[in-house]
Amino acid sequence: MKDGKQWYFMEEKYPELGNLMPRDITAREIWKVSHESEVFLDMTEISEEIISNKLSGLADDCMTYLHKDIRKEPVSVLPGIHYFMGGILVDEQHRTPIQNLCAAGECCAQYHGANRLGGNSLLGALYGGRVAAKSACEQADVVDLSCATQIDFPPASQISEIKQLNKVMQETMGVVRNENTLLNGIQTVQALTGNLPLLGMAVLKSALARKESRGAHWREDYPKSNDDDYLKTTVARFDGKQIQISFVPVPERR
Ligand SMILES: Cc1cc2nc3c(=O)[nH]c(=O)nc-3n(C[C@H](O)[C@H](O)[C@H](O)COP(=O)(O)OP(=O)(O)OC[C@H]3O[C@@H](n4cnc5c(N)ncnc54)[C@H](O)[C@@H]3O)c2cc1C
Repeated sequence: MKDGKQWYFMEEKYPELGNLMPRDITAREIWKVSHESEVFLDMTEISEEIISNKLSGLADDCMTYLHKDIRKEPVSVLPGIHYFMGGILVDEQHRTPIQNLCAAGECCAQYHGANRLGGNSLLGALYGGRVAAKSACEQADVVDLSCATQIDFPPASQISEIKQLNKVMQETMGVVRNENTLLNGIQTVQALTGNLPLLGMAVLKSALARKESRGAHWREDYPKSNDDDYLKTTVARFDGKQIQISFVPVPERR
């Protein structure tokens, strides 16, 4: 009890994790209690040296937007989307199944499993970018670049559909998922047209097919991990008509 409020601390609930809580556990804990009460991040015990050297941007943002000084009081927090796990399938040279197309960074599925570890993006963007660039340069000698096509941006008429897709994905693919909400999401997205809804559908169908919980994929109807069936990578392929979901073995070591 502090300031007349009931507090519970993550370090007390997960003593084995100390102060290094994985993001999926933190997000789920916040999600569980956020329906009923406010959740705070307390940074008041962090030294001024660390705040000025490492967290000055965060401190400034909290002051500007929340009018809170993180040195003096806890700030209210909620889980936010900040990384897409999975993505375009690439090989070790960052080549996609489409000839002459390479991918690197957050858009492709590399260097991470079901969870998000700090620094993964740096690896994907810097190392992955370097490998992809090397592959692209090797292909450039043999590729006729005049075949490159213009990217089609969604027309303005599709903006409301994209907003709807955004809403469905937020509601169904959030911190906690279940079969009912995923099926409802699929039903809604089926009525939408274009490439983005197709991508949304691939994500929803992949989450529906994985009947277990692993890392950030938390199914409340299947709360345990099932290595026998799902210690695998989910692959969604579009054959021009429909999306096929399959599971392929995870390479033991790259
Ligand atoms: C709030 C937040 C906090 C984060 N914190 C961390 C962290 O602490 N540590 C960490 O490792 N990662 C963190 N990340 C994740 C990390 O920032 C991203 O994974 C990383 O920046 C992705 O880099 P990228 O180059 O792959 O993609 P992006 O940085 O997204 O670059 C893609 C670029 O492509 C452009 N683009 C998109 N579509 C088109 C198009 N059709 N034509 C032309 N250009 C296009 C976009 O404008 C953009 O400039 C965080 C992300 C967020 C949102």
